[in-house]
Amino acid sequence: MAQYTCPSCGSKYFLASKTGPKIIFQVTLERTVEFIQLATGTISDLVIDTHKIYCGACSWHGSLNEVVESHTD
Ligand SMILES: [Zn+2]
Repeated sequence: MAQYTCPSCGSKYFLASKTGPKIIFQVTLERTVEFIQLATGTISDLVIDTHKIYCGACSWHGSLNEVVESHTD
C-alpha cells in the first residue's frame, strides 16, 4: 500500500502547526489532507497552509508537494 511520508524520517504523521493547536493529519494518495486528531473545532472550520506543514516526528517542515511516496506491504 502506497502512502506519503516525511522525506526526512519517513513518518506518516504531519502537523499543521508547531505552535498552534495540535492538528495531526496524514497525506492521502491524492495528496489531500486526512485529519487524524483535531485539538479544537471541526474539519469544516479548518484551513491549513499546505505550503508550510510539519513532520510529527522530526524537525522537517515544507510543502505538501514535498512529501514522498512510500510503499509498505
Ligand atoms: Zn520527519
